[in-house]
Amino acid sequence: MTPRRAHRPGLAVLGGSFNPPHVGHLRLAVEAREALGDLISRVDLVPSAHPPHKKNQHLLPFELRAAMLEAAAQPLPWLRCNRLESLREGPSYTWDTLRAYHAAEPGTKLYFLLGSPDFALLPTWHHGLELPALCDFVVVPRGEQNAEEFMDTARALWPQAQAHPPLLPGSVCMALPGGGLAHFLPLPWLAVSASRIRELWLAGRSVEYLMPEAALALLQTYRRTALEHWRGDRTC
Ligand code: ATP
Repeated sequence: MTPRRAHRPGLAVLGGSFNPPHVGHLRLAVEAREALGDLISRVDLVPSAHPPHKKNQHLLPFELRAAMLEAAAQPLPWLRCNRLESLREGPSYTWDTLRAYHAAEPGTKLYFLLGSPDFALLPTWHHGLELPALCDFVVVPRGEQNAEEFMDTARALWPQAQAHPPLLPGSVCMALPGGGLAHFLPLPWLAVSASRIRELWLAGRSVEYLMPEAALALLQTYRRTALEHWRGDRTC
């Protein structure tokens, strides 16, 4: 089955701290672009200005994280970095970000991309269980999680969740209260994380091929900033 053509193309949003961006993030964007097909016209990478769930003292400055994302996205016309979270004070809640998207682009359907560990943690997010009123989720499994486990998680989070015919090839779909769907898309999860890159960097080891080349070149230019922030000597 090919993705159903939407009346108006939507857009996919990948939010994160991107501290730093890595090839796992970029591959997720590429795979989601292909899987969503005509349903979307672009994928936005949205760096969190003040991540509610992460320790800010080890966070690189927003400008550097956004510049690395822009450099990584540059070769792909459908991919961009959106800096909208830097415009708000206080914790960067996805709830506020998606509402800002709806205000800026009324009628555009939003697909929020996230890994299965983050999906399971939605009850800890600000208005996390109400997010299906604002978006569909596209959930990618980390590790061994299978479709049954995804459905169990969805039912545990929303007891009214119901199986729905899949819209994306190879996916499993649940209809959630609030109107959104959760699409479980079994894509390969690359064994890379921002934490691992920070550890390697602090140990003076190479992070070649774990990050997009252009993003790594920027990080190397600001190597002292990276060292100070990741060591915890400086805060943003
Ligand atoms: P950290 O190691 O600092 O916790 P991270 O590598 O998980 O960071 P984030 O910026 O927190 O990166 O992730 C942003 C989004 O990308 C999240 O939805 C996360 O689940 C997803 N993600 C992270 N790593 C991968 C990966 N290797 N493959 C696919 N998706 C990923």
